[in-house]
Amino acid sequence: MLQQVNGHNPGSDGQAREYLGEDLQEFLDGEVLLYQLDDLTRVNPVTLETVLRCLQARYMADRFYTNAGCTLVALNPFKPIPQLYSSELMREYHAAPQPQKLKPHVFTVGEQTYRNVKSLIEPVNQSIVVSGESGAGKTWTSRCLMKFYAVVAPSPASWETHKIAERIEQRILNSNPVMEAFGNACTLRNNNSSRFGKFIQLQLNRAQQMTGAAVQTYLLEKTRVACQASSERNFHIFYQICKGASEDERLQWHLPEGAAFSWLPNPERSLEEDCFEVTREAMLHLGIDTPTQNNIFKVLAGLLHLGNIQFAASEDEAQPCQPMDDAKCSVRTAALLLGLPEDVLLETVQIRTIRAGRQQQVFRKPCPQTECDTRRDCLAKLIYSRLFDWLVSVINSSICADTDSWTTFIGLLDVYGFESFPDNSLEQLCINYANEKLQQHFVAHYLRAQQEEYAVEGLEWSFVNYQDNQACLDLIEGSPISICSLINEECRLNRPSSAAQLQTRIETALAGSPCLGHNKLSREPSFIVVHYAGPVRYHTAGLVEKNKDPVPPELTSLLQQSQDSLLMGLFPTNPKEKTQKEPSGQSRAPVLTVVSKFKASLEQLLQVLHSTTPHYIRCIKPNSQGQAQTFLQEEVLSQLEACGLVETIHISAAGFPIRISHQNFLERYKLLRRLRPHTSSGPHSPYPAKGLPEWCPHSEEATLEPLIQDILHTLPVLTQAAATPG
Ligand code: ADP
Ligand code: MG
Repeated sequence: MLQQVNGHNPGSDGQAREYLGEDLQEFLDGEVLLYQLDDLTRVNPVTLETVLRCLQARYMADRFYTNAGCTLVALNPFKPIPQLYSSELMREYHAAPQPQKLKPHVFTVGEQTYRNVKSLIEPVNQSIVVSGESGAGKTWTSRCLMKFYAVVAPSPASWETHKIAERIEQRILNSNPVMEAFGNACTLRNNNSSRFGKFIQLQLNRAQQMTGAAVQTYLLEKTRVACQASSERNFHIFYQICKGASEDERLQWHLPEGAAFSWLPNPERSLEEDCFEVTREAMLHLGIDTPTQNNIFKVLAGLLHLGNIQFAASEDEAQPCQPMDDAKCSVRTAALLLGLPEDVLLETVQIRTIRAGRQQQVFRKPCPQTECDTRRDCLAKLIYSRLFDWLVSVINSSICADTDSWTTFIGLLDVYGFESFPDNSLEQLCINYANEKLQQHFVAHYLRAQQEEYAVEGLEWSFVNYQDNQACLDLIEGSPISICSLINEECRLNRPSSAAQLQTRIETALAGSPCLGHNKLSREPSFIVVHYAGPVRYHTAGLVEKNKDPVPPELTSLLQQSQDSLLMGLFPTNPKEKTQKEPSGQSRAPVLTVVSKFKASLEQLLQVLHSTTPHYIRCIKPNSQGQAQTFLQEEVLSQLEACGLVETIHISAAGFPIRISHQNFLERYKLLRRLRPHTSSGPHSPYPAKGLPEWCPHSEEATLEPLIQDILHTLPVLTQAAATPG
């Protein structure tokens, strides 16, 4: 039942919310009980400040989850709270007749989602979108949901015997440590920061048992393998190998204890995530046998040695740069571990080959030192990103159910949140673009869903304005001209173009967009996009090059010569992989830019999301130091702004805030009928002066209606009377 409380659209003045809910009354009386407010739509007025105060009060009272209408806000406790995530509690939420009546929790969302799949005659897929900035708890939350489903929706028992040795849910859980070892790293903001986006579909059969899962990843930050910001680290797996290898393995992989690698900064920091055994064990459970694992680790050790190849600048431009003295041994070891001929490896990094002219003559040009470095790094990125993709495909083949053994899925989306740094580049553009898309999906879906529900209830309803971010998306991805199209165009034309020129092109071509910010204070070439979460300045230097993400063809051919069995699989000499020849005989590489690939995968993701009923969890980091019991208002405020939480609450609150069954409503408010004040009588009395029907606990719903109407009319009168002095 949805009830309009005082005769007008409750969202129009925010007043209506005052009349319902005892805890709100307490809130108004004093801040002490602020922490009891389970739902932020009941804060009045809804402002950044009131929301912030409520979240703070709850945080300090160890209440980490709060509803915000259709969204769940999850504050990172930064301390272990085992009892909050126990299997017993999972079962309690699962068994509850109305889980939404229990304290707000990630399990409420999990259970609600699960019931949605279950309760419908026509099964509808569900998705849970987990967002928030780095370190806010997204990965933790999605892991928690996976564990929840493993407990409440275990695979059929027969499964175990007929298909696999280990239960599928355990395998699915095992995918986490493996993907985190290879895709997570210690950053300034999170010791275990995911450097990729992830969408996992948990597959359920007709009996709503989990029978498999499929993982899709987005934008692995592969540059990290060869370049780490100061105080940050490379992917965990490198540290795991170096710390956890046995004596024998150290010999095989050329990793003597205490060896220094330039791509292994800050090895002295010991993290919980450095546990090699956990990764190996999980890989084994996923069907990656020990020899294959060792092969992977050998290649990774090869990358570490590759990183130690430092070049000395060459005095003669016609001569290739040579590795520095102490790097010669690194060349040999890297070549050995990667299964490559030492001289070919070195030459490929040192010398660029150019094909030109009608006959496609080959010219060899020694590269300057910085280019040698770039080519070396590129080689490492190429190997690592292929390895990561391959690993994801192996995981998928291990956990994915046959098409006939699942009917519905619950998708969990764990993607990087909105980012705004002093220096923003292509990575941030992609991330923020994804967030704009998700925000649009959220608003569109939620308003639509709400409107449909009101229509069913036959309620009069007029829409409030909400922030539509279509203009911003048009600016980023629209056709025919947008930021993406302009950057792609530069890549296609392949012309020398300065950062300043790119800025001018963007600002001129897109001058009409309301979301292109005024760029007055810029010293470096840049442009500003006004995102829903705030304006962000993107620097244009290096943008086009990053978008091209060029891989010199010699590097791929080099890896195709590898004698290492893993690399042979990752770099097959498959004619399909070669660039297509044009009829004229000219080779032309397909223009597949980072942006265009990302856009395609994003569109695919949104298509999937659109086909599901979405649920949203917004993770919030109470402080950037990762400390328990510390709530820094400034920091939380900027996150509330970035995720548009107040906006979300308004959207939710503009709708009818309370949904109570007739029965519960009467149960709660029946007393009021006897308290009807004198002020209510007279010609302006809001209800007719006829005798009211007596309360009867066993009435049918239909006969309860007049009683409810009566109470609803009494409520505002009572409140008015209470507010009038004397
Ligand atoms: P994100 O994926 O958003 O970058 P994570 O999920 O990796 O962030 O969380 C960062 C860290 O915060 C975790 O490593 C963990 O220590 C802590 N954390 C997050 N959520 C919780 C929670 N619910 N309970 C306890 N600790 C948490
Ligand atoms: Mg993460």
